[in-house]
Amino acid sequence: MTPGPAVCCPTLGGSPLNADLAHLTISECRSLLDSKQVSAVELTRASQDRVAAGDSRLGAFLLVTDDLALAQAKDADVRIAAGRSGALTGVPYALKDIISTTGIRTTCGSRILETYVPVYQGPVVDCLSREGAVLIGKTNMDEFAMGSSNEHSGFFPARNPWDTDRVPGGSSGGSAAAVAAGFVPFALGTDTGGSIRQPAGLTGIAGVKPTYGRVSRFGLVAFASSLDQIGPLTRTVEDSATILNLIAGYDTRDSTSLNAPVPDYVAAVRGSEGNKEPSTAPLAGIRVGVPREYFPDTLDPDVASVVRDALDLLATCGAELVDISLPSTEVALACYYIIAPSEVMSNLARYDGVRFGLRAEGSDVWEMFDRTREAGFGPEVKRRILLGAFALSKGYVDAYYVKALQVRTLVKREFESAFQSVDVIVGPTSPTPAFRLGEKLEDPVAMYLADAFTLPANIAGICGISVPCGLARDLPVGLQILGPPLGEEMMFRVAGAYERAAAWNLRPAGW
Ligand code: GLN
Repeated sequence: MTPGPAVCCPTLGGSPLNADLAHLTISECRSLLDSKQVSAVELTRASQDRVAAGDSRLGAFLLVTDDLALAQAKDADVRIAAGRSGALTGVPYALKDIISTTGIRTTCGSRILETYVPVYQGPVVDCLSREGAVLIGKTNMDEFAMGSSNEHSGFFPARNPWDTDRVPGGSSGGSAAAVAAGFVPFALGTDTGGSIRQPAGLTGIAGVKPTYGRVSRFGLVAFASSLDQIGPLTRTVEDSATILNLIAGYDTRDSTSLNAPVPDYVAAVRGSEGNKEPSTAPLAGIRVGVPREYFPDTLDPDVASVVRDALDLLATCGAELVDISLPSTEVALACYYIIAPSEVMSNLARYDGVRFGLRAEGSDVWEMFDRTREAGFGPEVKRRILLGAFALSKGYVDAYYVKALQVRTLVKREFESAFQSVDVIVGPTSPTPAFRLGEKLEDPVAMYLADAFTLPANIAGICGISVPCGLARDLPVGLQILGPPLGEEMMFRVAGAYERAAAWNLRPAGW
């Protein structure tokens, strides 16, 4: 199959001021701003108007920062007028509400932090501000990022702009919905087991989980510290590269931060085609591993067929497809659901009514702890805390936690050995397109299985991207491209070549 026609392709008509300012990419925003066809204040107001008009249907935002955004937009216009603009000056964006923002409420989607206002933020937010990006608001998410559908938000679910009866994925569902609906050109999310790639896939946008340690976690509220990474959700692969170039880098305040140079990811996306006529075989010499475990019998047949078409297109671009096997894929899921809850049980012990957010009084300190945590945490977070407490308890720690660490080593080695013979590993991001709200809510294991193809990358610490690769039953499908640790350049190269060759322009009707 050749790539289908663009769906509702946006146009920028004669006068951009009158044209649709939604669904612009970061680079389109920047060129309109620098050529003074639109001001940062106009772009910001357009974004705010769209959120005001449409977000009651989507629930993408937990907080809008209107005053701050307008102040940042005015500053951006001053910088642009003075010819001092940076890569994001005047570009609106949204932040997942687990990324701390100084003086701005940060709830992590949880009632327990409903009133929490951080007194610090990390380098990721500092760097976006320094570049002149304009913060539109903080996005909805599953509570403390535990979930795959956004239904575990402590406030209200976010919805998928392709079909508002369906989930946008999770846990960065609000960030994905905001970008897919054209509210903002980019958002940041976090990915502990798939929470950037899965919602990106289910909403038809690009999303990157960087190599563990590539982006500082300082200022990110911890879910599972050995797995969490911050990354971009954008309309194009190149925009993701632009953002990663800015937020990646060494930070002494994160002890797991990698001290490695940050290559030019945008150049990697453009490949050698950046300077030349488009090549007919931009991926010549690239070996693409196709793991048989990522195409199980249970894979949705429409998803399978769209992904197979994408693989054919990679071959047309000159890539060599290599059948590989990653036998630990199945146990990686079990391993994740021991390691992540164990870290949760430790990381979430700090929410005790003494230092942060909610406090429910009791007759003594123990009752106060109990009541605070009972009232503040939702059912999924409680389930994870209990799972973690069990996995770490005396008598079971060897059978569960220590065993899971051994499996983790296995999963890592399997990827290491696969990357000896292939450059990237490609398959579906998720086993199904977006499911209906409520469909998996009562069945935790069915929900956990939504991440079967994404969470091995977190277990192994490698990098991955989800790129839109078409529609199944009128819903977006994501193509996952995994690269080795610090292999983002190769991952971006393949993703960029695929995106150019496929030329999808997915946009949900009515947004
Ligand atoms: N869905 C997975 C979980 O519930 C992954 C979440 C994430 O990546 N934050 O843990």
